[in-house]
Amino acid sequence: DAKRLGENGVVVYTGDTAQPQSERLALKNGLREALTQGQFFLEYQPQFDLAEQRVMGVEALLRWQHPVYGRVAPSSFIALAEETGMIVPIGDWVLRTACRQHRAWREAGLPEIELAVNLSARQLKEPGLAGRVLAILVETGMSAHCLDLEITEGMLIDDLAANCALMNGLRGAGVLVSIDDFGTGYSSLNYLSELPVDILKMDALFVRRLGDGQAGRSFAIAELIVGMAHRLGLRVIAEAVELPEQLADLAAMGCDAAQGYLFARPLPPGEIAAMLARQADPAPQPEPSFD
Ligand code: C2E
Ligand code: MG
Ligand code: MG
Ligand code: MG
Repeated sequence: DAKRLGENGVVVYTGDTAQPQSERLALKNGLREALTQGQFFLEYQPQFDLAEQRVMGVEALLRWQHPVYGRVAPSSFIALAEETGMIVPIGDWVLRTACRQHRAWREAGLPEIELAVNLSARQLKEPGLAGRVLAILVETGMSAHCLDLEITEGMLIDDLAANCALMNGLRGAGVLVSIDDFGTGYSSLNYLSELPVDILKMDALFVRRLGDGQAGRSFAIAELIVGMAHRLGLRVIAEAVELPEQLADLAAMGCDAAQGYLFARPLPPGEIAAMLARQADPAPQPEPSFD
């Protein structure tokens, strides 16, 4: 079967070619309406500072509640949105919605956290991205130093000079830049020292292999990434941490932060607010401990 039911009953597809042509077309044609009819919404996955054992940020993740197909996974529609160019207005909507939400958390008196937003390749190619990002920051009253834009190595390297200039422009305004899925792209070591970024997000690929203790080869590789990043002045956030053993390894190698199902799934804004409130005033409930 071309599709299977993923976690939480989300429809996921095994691959582009396996996606039935009719559904693919329906989804593709439905993107504009999804945006105008309010079928998109965001969930936020907490990022935990390992040293301080607290939520230091969230990653905004786009969700589509389709009237016919139900919840459609980003892996099934982001590529379609890129093909059609709809990712540009959708990406603006994501950024504006996430920044507004961040502002709302602040106005509710919750502690300031970082907000990571994923960008797609097509958004980088569209002229005026930096201007639109800065305009959205002004419009939503969000402070630039809390915004973290996630891009992949491949996206940066695709047009290195132009994208470095773009990222440096944004960083000049105080915005943070992350390399998402770090380690899955091209040979990163060559130009890592020159990339205009602040954070490396260690891909799930490396995290999945951890948990066998500090003597293992997987530990050595992940530790190398963390050590190299630190030498270059970058922070490291580990992705898709699911097991306590993985967390123990990451903590032992000095990884700065982690996100994954072990801590929390992507959550609606209200649950993030509750989490931040508990963290700010932990007295009534015991703090979750991750060691
Ligand atoms: P990503 O940016 O690497 O996001 C991390 C993905 O890992 C998310 O999948 C998240 O739900 C999932 N994840 C988190 N913790 C765990 C874990 O412990 N185990 C496992 N197995 N997975 C975990 P999601 O939400 O399905 O998003 C998939 C991808 O779609 C994202 O990967 C990102 O590349 C893209 N995406 C999502 N939202 C947006 C968006 O607003 N704009 C753009 N351009 N891309 C987006
Ligand atoms: Mg990401
Ligand atoms: Mg990632
Ligand atoms: Mg990914």
